[in-house]
Amino acid sequence: MTDTTQEGAPSQALSFELKCTDGRARRGRVTVTHGSFETPAFMPVGTRGTVKGMTPRDLRETGAEICLGNTYHLNIAPGGKIVKKLGGLHGMMGWDAPILTDSGGFQVFSLPKLEIEEEGVTFAFKKGGKAIQLTPERSMQIQEALGADIIMAFDHVVAHPAPYQLAEEAVYRTSRWLERCRKAHTRTDQALFGIVQGSTFPNLRRLSVELICSQDLPGYAIGGLSVGEGHQLMMDTIDQTEPFMPAEKPRYLMGVGYPEDLVEAVARGVDMFDCVLPSRLARSGIIFTRHGRYRVTKGRYKADKFPLDTNCNCYACRNFSRAYVNHLINSKEILGSVLATLHNITFYQDLMRAMRQAIEEGRFESFRRAFLDEYLSDDRKEELDLEEVLGTSEHDADDLPWKTTHSVVPPTTVEENRRRSRRDAEVSAPEERMKEHKRASKGGARKGSKAGAKGQGKARRASSGRSQKSSKSSKSGRSKSGGKGSGSSSKFAKSKSSKNSKNSGSGKPK
Ligand SMILES: [Zn+2]
Repeated sequence: MTDTTQEGAPSQALSFELKCTDGRARRGRVTVTHGSFETPAFMPVGTRGTVKGMTPRDLRETGAEICLGNTYHLNIAPGGKIVKKLGGLHGMMGWDAPILTDSGGFQVFSLPKLEIEEEGVTFAFKKGGKAIQLTPERSMQIQEALGADIIMAFDHVVAHPAPYQLAEEAVYRTSRWLERCRKAHTRTDQALFGIVQGSTFPNLRRLSVELICSQDLPGYAIGGLSVGEGHQLMMDTIDQTEPFMPAEKPRYLMGVGYPEDLVEAVARGVDMFDCVLPSRLARSGIIFTRHGRYRVTKGRYKADKFPLDTNCNCYACRNFSRAYVNHLINSKEILGSVLATLHNITFYQDLMRAMRQAIEEGRFESFRRAFLDEYLSDDRKEELDLEEVLGTSEHDADDLPWKTTHSVVPPTTVEENRRRSRRDAEVSAPEERMKEHKRASKGGARKGSKAGAKGQGKARRASSGRSQKSSKSSKSGRSKSGGKGSGSSSKFAKSKSSKNSKNSGSGKPK
């Protein structure tokens, strides 16, 4: 990539093609210096220049076309200068596809002990004896050294709930800081995104859109969400923000989220997402499936021969049993985290792919209803103590500053266990499944299965809130009302590979 230097560089570094819309949902493609990615897109998070446990080759295999790095953490180690020497983030990581770096602004919210002034933010963490200071200029300087394709403006994120006055101050400050970012940003091969703030106040969101989106940038982010406000308030805030954002630019919802958040936000016109959840939760053994989540480390999976997700075609699901992953994670073997992460990120990418296809085919609304109905189904739900899970791993606390609780659908039922013997053969014969996968791959069908149609339930949720570490726990839990009406066929992925016919629904409640 070229390291051009032009004052206040205009952005020719990004082009956005809006291919089609379905309701408010948008199907597009973003092209940046290191290639293109299809939208709606999910970006796995590589906080320190790696998505924990994933080689770039693995990451590619999940379907990820862009990933994210974190300016604050990369600045601490190995430092912008070293990253630059190593060929930028792309060269250092061995990832030649698009990368986005955040600005460090979110750490204003997530890290304790800091001082916010007009000049910038001073963090308590000391590097070489000096406290870390981030300013709009410094953030641009570091992000230019890191060399990502898309870089984010340095913004002022406030916690939730925020006093109106503070939220208003943050809106104006974020706008002033954006102007400084634009002046400091010199590389023309990087696209600078502005970030809309305003907490959950509709008029402040509107004001922030006016202040930020008038600055003619190649893309805009909705920031300041996923900070403990809960699912419904998050969606309401998107509703109060998105309609005023320019249609011809990509919209990025920062730090979000759970599968249900992604589906609902895509329905509201969001194009890009990032979140540590699929990888972070994987390391604690939380597995995402179309039917909800479950914790594979529980005793009940000790001898479970099913794959992590019977409807997934990822490397982990093609080759290994829940029992093995249960053993690996419980024994603190690295491979356990690797396999769970591989699966969870694949699940997210498959979800995005399914949404893109549904938009193209003009059936996004029915997809949304069917997916949520199934994913949030009331059936045999159990409480999963994510609070406890997320509190267990100290060294990871930095990339997930909130905690949350959710309900989950257990994947096995007594009835399924009875039918198990019939399926044991396929599960215990990974080489067979591998062959089938290869055949399926040749046919171009990556994954798929018939989802048990649950009907057109309301799939209404109260909130899927993450609550802030600090305390103001707006706890979550959702009201459960997955309906069981007449069924529209809910297909997670439309095409159905030969392999999955046998697997369909196995090990999952229907
Ligand atoms: Zn999988």
